[in-house]
Amino acid sequence: MTELDSLWEAIQNSFRKSKGDTTYKNLIAPAKPLDLSNGKLRIQLPSQYHRDFWEQLTDQVVEIVYQHTGQEIRPEYVLATDPAPFGDTPARPKSTFKEETPLNPEYTFQTFIEGRSNMMAYASAFAASESPGDQYNPLLIYGGVGLGKTHLMQAIANNMKFHNPSVRIKYVTSENFMNDFVNSIKSGTQEEFRREYRDLDALLVDDIQFFASKGETQTEFFNTFNVLYDNKKQIVLTSDKDPREIPNLTERLVSRFMWGVPVEITSPALETRIAILKSKAEEEQLDVPNEVLNFIAQRINTNVRELEGALMRIRVFSELHHQPITLKLATEALQGMVANTETTVTIDLIQKRVATYYNINQSDITGKKRTKNIVVPRQIAMYLSRELTDNSLPKIGKEFGGKDHTTVLHAIDKIEKQVQEDARLQSDLTNLKNDLQA
Ligand code: ADP
Ligand code: MG
Repeated sequence: MTELDSLWEAIQNSFRKSKGDTTYKNLIAPAKPLDLSNGKLRIQLPSQYHRDFWEQLTDQVVEIVYQHTGQEIRPEYVLATDPAPFGDTPARPKSTFKEETPLNPEYTFQTFIEGRSNMMAYASAFAASESPGDQYNPLLIYGGVGLGKTHLMQAIANNMKFHNPSVRIKYVTSENFMNDFVNSIKSGTQEEFRREYRDLDALLVDDIQFFASKGETQTEFFNTFNVLYDNKKQIVLTSDKDPREIPNLTERLVSRFMWGVPVEITSPALETRIAILKSKAEEEQLDVPNEVLNFIAQRINTNVRELEGALMRIRVFSELHHQPITLKLATEALQGMVANTETTVTIDLIQKRVATYYNINQSDITGKKRTKNIVVPRQIAMYLSRELTDNSLPKIGKEFGGKDHTTVLHAIDKIEKQVQEDARLQSDLTNLKNDLQA
C-alpha cells in the first residue's frame, strides 16, 4: 500500500464515521486521490457540487492528515473536466452564475442546538423558512465567526426545499455575488445575471461585510434587493458585525438591512457548548464521557467551529492510538490546540482591554474604588480572567490589587447571573471575548 493509499483510507474512514450515510455515499466516496507532493494533496471530484462540498471539509482533511502523518498539507480539488495544469494554475474566482449553489445537507434546524445565545436567530430563521417573504423579511443574522450563521442560513434553504422541492433559492456569499456581477459585465451578460438573481423565491447572501467599499456591487445589490423585496420574496443576509458598523457600506443599504429583523448571535454559554458537543458526538456515534465533554467546553469558549474541531481531533487521536476517549487522552489530544489559541490571553491583557472598552484606567480595575462605572468592569474583568485563563481564584484576586478569592467568586457569580437577563452585558462580553481571542 502506498503512502497515498493509506492516507486516503484514513480520510475516507474518518468521514465514513463522521458523516451521514447518504452524505458519505454521494459526496465523499466518489472522490479520488490523485497525488501527494510538495505538501499538496490533489483530490479529483466528479462535479462542481462535489468540489464546493469538499471545500467546506478542508479544515477536517488537513486535521486528519496531520494526525495521521504529522504533516501539514494543503488539499487541492480538481474536477475531472479541468484542463491539466501548467505549473501553478491561477486561482479562478468561483462563479455561481447560472449554477445551482450547493447547500450542505447537514445544515438543518434539526441539527442546530438552541441556547440563549442563538434563540432569537433560530426562531427568526425558522419562521422565515416556514413563511418566506412575510414578517421576517429581510432577515439579517449577525455575529462573530463560527457561531452558526451559515448553518442557520442554509437551514432556511433546506427547510424551504423540504416543503417545496421546486422552490427557487439562491445561496451565495457576497463575494460570489460580486464575482458574478463583474463577470456579467465583462461578458456582456448582465441581462442573464439579473434574471438569475431576481427571478427567485429566496436570495441568501452570506457574509455581506465583504460588500464594504465595493461601490458598484453595492448599487447592483441594492437594485436586486428592491426587486425581490417588492415582489415579497424572502431575503436572508448574514454579517460578522452589526451592519451599522460595517465601514463604507452605503447608508441606503444599511437602512434596508435594518428594515426587517436584525438578530444577533453570540457565543454559546457553557451548557449550550456541552449540548452541542453531545449532539455532535451522538451524530458521529462516538462514545465520549461527560467529563470529556465538559473539559472541551471549558477550554473552547467562543467558537462552535473550534468546538467541533476539538472533538474531531480527539476522535482521530483515539482512533490512531486505538484507545477509548478518556480525559487523559483528550488532554493530550488538545495540548497543541489549547496552547495555540490561549497562550496570549493573560489577566493583564484582560484588564487592559476591559479598561479600554469601558473608557477607564487599568489602575481603576485593580484599585478599590466602589463606583458603579468601575465596579462592573472590574467584575467583568475577573469573570473573563476565570473564563479565558487557567489562573486560580486566589491568583486572580492577587492580580486585581490583592483581593480575596471570595471577592473574585462573588464577581463571577454576579456576572453569570446578570448576563442571563442583560442583553447589553451579553454583547459586551461577546465583543470583549472576540477581541481578546482574535
Ligand atoms: P458562521 O457562519 O457563523 O461562521 P457556521 O455556520 O459555519 O458559522 O458554523 C460553524 C460550525 O459550527 C458549523 O459546522 C455548524 O454546523 C456548527 N454550529 C454552530 N452553531 C451550532 C449550533 N448551535 N448547533 C450545532 N452546530 C452548530
Ligand atoms: Mg459563515
